[in-house]
Amino acid sequence: EKYTMVDQETCIACGTCGVTAPDLFDYDDDGIAFAILDDNEGVTAVTEDLIDDLEDAFESCPTESIKVADQPFSCGKSAAS
Ligand code: SF4
Repeated sequence: EKYTMVDQETCIACGTCGVTAPDLFDYDDDGIAFAILDDNEGVTAVTEDLIDDLEDAFESCPTESIKVADQPFSCGKSAAS
């Protein structure tokens, strides 16, 4: 299984991921991307039909802000700072 979330600290709001994977990523009011599945928590498995979109978005993000893992991002949004 794959899980995804956006590192909003490094996202530059370029708008690529929402085009590449419109069912997975959307943008907040500032244009910063987030994972639609679970409000960027990264704990909901990406469904099989969206894996190709996910990989395309992952590869096309210019800042490597799209995080992908085989396990849930259990810590979710950064608790640091
Ligand atoms: Fe942000 Fe990357 Fe999506 Fe561009 S492709 S909006 S930098 S997460």
